[in-house]
Amino acid sequence: MPVISRAAIAMAPGSPLIIDKVKIDTPGEGEVLVEIKATGLCHTDLSALAGKVGALVHFPGIPGHEAGGVVVEVGPGVTGLEVGDHVIPYMCPECGHCDFCHSPKTNLCAEMFTGHDLKTRAEYNGTRLHAFHDLGTFSNFGVYREISLAKVRKDAPFEQIAYLGCGATTGLGAAIIEAQVEPGSTVAVIGLGGIGLSVIQGARICGASRIIAVDTNPAKEALARKMGATEFVNPKTLDKELGQHIVEITGAGADYVFECVGAISTIQHAFAATHFAWGVCMVVGLAPDGEMLSIPPTELLFGKTLKGSSIGGAKCRSGIPKLVDRLMEKEFDLESLITNKISLDEISAGLEAMERGEGIRTVIMF
Ligand SMILES: [Zn+2]
Ligand SMILES: [Zn+2]
Repeated sequence: MPVISRAAIAMAPGSPLIIDKVKIDTPGEGEVLVEIKATGLCHTDLSALAGKVGALVHFPGIPGHEAGGVVVEVGPGVTGLEVGDHVIPYMCPECGHCDFCHSPKTNLCAEMFTGHDLKTRAEYNGTRLHAFHDLGTFSNFGVYREISLAKVRKDAPFEQIAYLGCGATTGLGAAIIEAQVEPGSTVAVIGLGGIGLSVIQGARICGASRIIAVDTNPAKEALARKMGATEFVNPKTLDKELGQHIVEITGAGADYVFECVGAISTIQHAFAATHFAWGVCMVVGLAPDGEMLSIPPTELLFGKTLKGSSIGGAKCRSGIPKLVDRLMEKEFDLESLITNKISLDEISAGLEAMERGEGIRTVIMF
């Protein structure tokens, strides 16, 4: 039986979100109907709603890609989930049998690029809606592919597992899974939103001895230190370039530099701040489509590595449940990063507050 769900609908880039009822289909082959309990507002949603993220975002559609919920109904052919399971919908599916899924080097999956029509199983006034990022979680109910759902333990709070659907995992995984920061390393983290603060926690878990937190907002210092930063740098107060400053205070640059802003200039500063010979500059922030990066290529010959990370390199069905276990073992703290809980009706105000840089993570609770 189709269900009626309240959802946020984006009709066109830049147009105000409509909060209204949509009709959700019965799950088809390999699909699962999920009641979303919590869904977070991510900076990527702002870019997507503005039409700045071309891939996997089409209008009209339901935005949102960071959520936690409960399985309500399973379609034919679903073998790994049953009614009542708690799940995290995830942007990178894990089909389990493509070349990507077989490789430990990536969390991407061939099913991200092929094999799905990117339409939600949702309809609004007779119009089929797209699912932003193949998910579309700003809806109380949604139909998702089984391969895009991580089954997780039931004692974890929904707002916190929602955060592990994107932002928290992007930061934690960048340090733990992608960079594999070694104990004793010096780490710099540029940009202290939820992702940067999660990178700091990941670096702390890995045993980094120095964690230099960088942000132009001095109000971020206290929380950064609570997450594990050992020092704080405000680029606005420097009389030199940020990269040069980090090279000076570390001797020759940081072993790992994480860029969590998604701007060309901060990626360049991050690369400049990276240690010669072995340093890794990890781009975590999402720069707008069409931007091009220029860096001095000889520095690559001298041993610097420039790489990027997508959702922290965490695989969906095999990786995310392990992070939920580590959350519940209190290895890291997401509660302190969830600064606002709102209703679906308050979503536009929540997005505007995020754009102004207020709070860390806002989560919609259904
Ligand atoms: Zn996100
Ligand atoms: Zn796959």
